[in-house]
Amino acid sequence: MFLKDTLTRQIKELSREKPFGFYCCGPTVYGPAHIGNFRTFILQDVLRRALELAGYAPVHVRNITDVDDKTILRSQQAGLSLKKFTEQWTQRFLDDCNKLNLLSPHQQPRATDHIVQQIQLIQKLIERGLAYVENGSVYFRVAAYKDYGKLTQLSPENLRTQSTNSAGHVNDVDEYDRDNVRDFALWKAHKADDGDVFWESPWGKGRPGWHIECSAMSMHYLGETFNLHGGGIDLIFPHHENEIAQSEGATGKPFVRHWFHTTHLTVDGKKMSKSLGNLYTLEDLEKQGFSTDSVRYLLLSGHYSQPLNFTLDSLGAAQSALSRIEKFAHKLLEHTRTELSQINTSPTFPFTQWNVFKPTWEAIQNDMNTPQALGELFSSLPQVDLDTPGLIHEFRALLFLFGFKMAAPQSAPEAVLQLAHQRWQAKQAKDFALADSLRAQIQSLGWQMLDGKDSFNLVKL
Ligand code: AMP
Ligand code: ZN
Repeated sequence: MFLKDTLTRQIKELSREKPFGFYCCGPTVYGPAHIGNFRTFILQDVLRRALELAGYAPVHVRNITDVDDKTILRSQQAGLSLKKFTEQWTQRFLDDCNKLNLLSPHQQPRATDHIVQQIQLIQKLIERGLAYVENGSVYFRVAAYKDYGKLTQLSPENLRTQSTNSAGHVNDVDEYDRDNVRDFALWKAHKADDGDVFWESPWGKGRPGWHIECSAMSMHYLGETFNLHGGGIDLIFPHHENEIAQSEGATGKPFVRHWFHTTHLTVDGKKMSKSLGNLYTLEDLEKQGFSTDSVRYLLLSGHYSQPLNFTLDSLGAAQSALSRIEKFAHKLLEHTRTELSQINTSPTFPFTQWNVFKPTWEAIQNDMNTPQALGELFSSLPQVDLDTPGLIHEFRALLFLFGFKMAAPQSAPEAVLQLAHQRWQAKQAKDFALADSLRAQIQSLGWQMLDGKDSFNLVKL
């Protein structure tokens, strides 16, 4: 597998070093994840799937950030303990992951279950002269760490001193105890606002900073050096820059061999985010009749290194494209007298018998080019000879790669089909009033009409 590495800015072959540790920064659990977050998690999931197929046997860890400024504030507003509050949102996240058919990571550590490891890491940094205590808080001394800025590729002077990530983690702008504004908190002394959220530490009551959580959990599960670390591009600075400084500062060893950053899902050109309020959750889209597979498809239809703009029209097109794959699946199953369950299961790893779908696999191997891979798939489908030996196995591996689940054939009743054709014609004739009333009629019959560019698709509500 070849993939661009953010640190070197090069497309590099992934390390064959075993075990293959793959750490992904997980969600901050104070509300539902939006589909922008899921762009990142789904791309990481397809990469995980590709690694499985290619025989890397990845060990996948994705954490849950269940303590930070936002989770504390929101739990207080909800009148719930931090634990109860974050558990509720963690469960919702995992439910959404299931619906989107994301493979479960091998470990899903919660930050609050790893306070001991975080304290130990901070102690090491103090011993090594890279951190200092000030009024019960501990700060990383950026000036003492010469490699600071290597991921961001900016000189330390030019690095922004404050930054907010998608979850609104503020880089401690309100703390004036630091020797230098660039220094960031590893441990935050307890404040009245934190209420009952604190842990005992050698520096008194307090809680960890966000960055130390990921350094501690990733190294705890994957070792001091591991192969691959992922997150959205908003995490490059300061979060991942700080993770490198903390981890390499404490161990003196390289932290991560390959950095994988995914570009944002946007709406009207602006990043989809909680703070801008321009977000869609999976639930919003399901309520409108879109299948979770179509959300998955849409989020894979752009290359991870480019922004992808979200529209409901493109989701309709994704659903139509998926139905073409599904039609092929039904034809193949009928032709080979195979049960549906045979193609919806995982193949055995590694999978090496790529044949008719080889161009799709090669596009994935070459810097996770998911749009090209889907394009190649659609070029292959009409030409596939259904008698090709091993085709069922290969198609199963292909579905596994993208994480699509095929459903049994289900067609709309004749009455609904007729209304749908009438509506399509009304829309072509720009009679939008008639088109809208027909859409409502179709909906009242339990079907949703999704418009692609040249055709429509009917989905059961
Ligand atoms: P958060 O829960 O906000 O800490 O984010 C979880 C993951 O989603 C991180 O890897 C973020 O970088 C990523 N992320 C946040 N917003 C977007 C977006 N609009 N598009 C893609 N990834 C995002
Ligand atoms: Zn992280």
